[in-house]
Amino acid sequence: MTTLIAQPETNSHTMPKAAASQAGEPEVVEFDPTPVRGSSARRHNLREGVGHQGDVAQAATACPLPQRSREYLRSAAIEYAAASEWIYLSAETLLDTEKARIATSHRIGAYERAKGGADVLIDSVDANLSTLQDIMAGLIKTEEACVKQLARVLKDHPLGPLQAETHGFGAKQFGRLLGALGNPFWAGNPNDDDPQRSFPREGPAQLWAYCGFDPIGGLARKRQKGELANWNSAAKMRAWVIAKQVEKTPKSPYRTVYVETKAKYAGALHVVECAQCSLCANCGHPLTQFPRDHLATYGCGARKPAYAPPGSLLKPSHVQARALRAVAKEVLRDLYNEARDWHYGATD
Ligand SMILES: [Zn+2]
Ligand SMILES: [Zn+2]
Repeated sequence: MTTLIAQPETNSHTMPKAAASQAGEPEVVEFDPTPVRGSSARRHNLREGVGHQGDVAQAATACPLPQRSREYLRSAAIEYAAASEWIYLSAETLLDTEKARIATSHRIGAYERAKGGADVLIDSVDANLSTLQDIMAGLIKTEEACVKQLARVLKDHPLGPLQAETHGFGAKQFGRLLGALGNPFWAGNPNDDDPQRSFPREGPAQLWAYCGFDPIGGLARKRQKGELANWNSAAKMRAWVIAKQVEKTPKSPYRTVYVETKAKYAGALHVVECAQCSLCANCGHPLTQFPRDHLATYGCGARKPAYAPPGSLLKPSHVQARALRAVAKEVLRDLYNEARDWHYGATD
């Protein structure tokens, strides 16, 4: 098992600062936040009909990034943080409201079941229950208002245009992803001048690592018992939700990644043992959720979970997870590119 230790992101890059000092004199260009629209490789690829994993070098040639000093990028990141403030506040408020709505709904359901079901309660007058149902209706309305606010503030955000023009990026889930991610390009607080804690990410791989999408020793990272996760699990979950939206959106530009990854791993075998594809140690069949179903389906009365061994076939759900993971990484790559271009002030 891999041991994961919580540690801050470290600055291993040698970017614009080095480039600027090599060039001789430091740049004095001030960051201008006004007319910036990204020109990421993704946009270029979509326009040129190049595949999603397409020719990034070609895109880079078409829209080269201007030379920018660390201070220029840092002041852009400070602007970005100001533009993101309401995304974060709205996403957090939505989360709180959603939690209250779900918890209240569970309480109502439990009460109704305890009293013999909703049908029984319809005929009886229960003032307390109807008050709680009114509160529930209010929570649903509040949650809708939070979703609307998130969508509204997203329109003024540097990455708002990317959401608006991409099939499969719902404003609600995209806003929540941005809220969880913070700045896809700049790591840490840009007001912090320490380059170890506050720095531009070198490439999408550093954003993948931040979200826990970087494999360690060829294995996808999973939270293990007793280990601290050193990635942002909220951001990972939100990226996953976006990937699920893409899965359901045939017109999404990321569908190709999804379909191709699924095809690539169909019939693939496990290299290491796999918990999510566990089989029954007694009969060797897939696990059904309940022992009685396992007995009925496979005639095995001693359902006993065991990891799928190396060399065994990936279950369809495992193949699907790999495809969703590939989509999530492509989405994060484009968020990185788009945010990076915005910081550089690159325009179409
Ligand atoms: Zn598996
Ligand atoms: Zn069995």
